[in-house]
Amino acid sequence: MIKHDIMKQIDDEVLSLKKSPLYAFRIKEKNFPVIGEGSLDTHIMFVGEAPGKNEAKKAKPFCGASGKFLTEMLSGIGIDRNDVYITNLVKDRPPENRDPSPKEIALYAPFLDRQIEIIKPKVVVPLGRLSMAYLMKRFGLESELATIGKIHGKIFKVKTEYGKIHIVPLYHPAVALYNGGMRKQLHKDMAILKQFI
Ligand code: URA
Repeated sequence: MIKHDIMKQIDDEVLSLKKSPLYAFRIKEKNFPVIGEGSLDTHIMFVGEAPGKNEAKKAKPFCGASGKFLTEMLSGIGIDRNDVYITNLVKDRPPENRDPSPKEIALYAPFLDRQIEIIKPKVVVPLGRLSMAYLMKRFGLESELATIGKIHGKIFKVKTEYGKIHIVPLYHPAVALYNGGMRKQLHKDMAILKQFI
């Protein structure tokens, strides 16, 4: 099966994921799951936490205020967001924008694992502490795990079944919306990815 077909299959499976604790809320709100967007041939993959209100209405990742800032940071280092792949750890929007629960993360993470298997990125960029924690554990970096305040912008090298890759945890873009003083730091961290373009 080609990449696009496998991604479509993931999309179909998430769409009918009735056992998800987030399913009833999705239906009630007339929301959509957000599978991901961008190039399936990229070597850079960004992983946010879960869709927000705008994302769940449009079925597109990072299309609200934090997405605007993410897009701006990417263009700042010469990356068009259509040339990378952007997804989330959890594919459905949690009510009230709360953090996804450990149970929800455990249910949705295998879809992310399959997306990583399809795309085989050389660089995986978790955005925020929840995707950082999941991906670092997933790639055997549990002993290096610390708060995002300590390890944002650090480059971790890991071996996967398809070769060596880098994990680069970054602050979630929403951080800059709550605290404008962080914008500069987030731009600076993003610039670390220039070496992988
Ligand atoms: N925040 C996320 O983590 N993901 C999105 O898609 C939007 C906001």
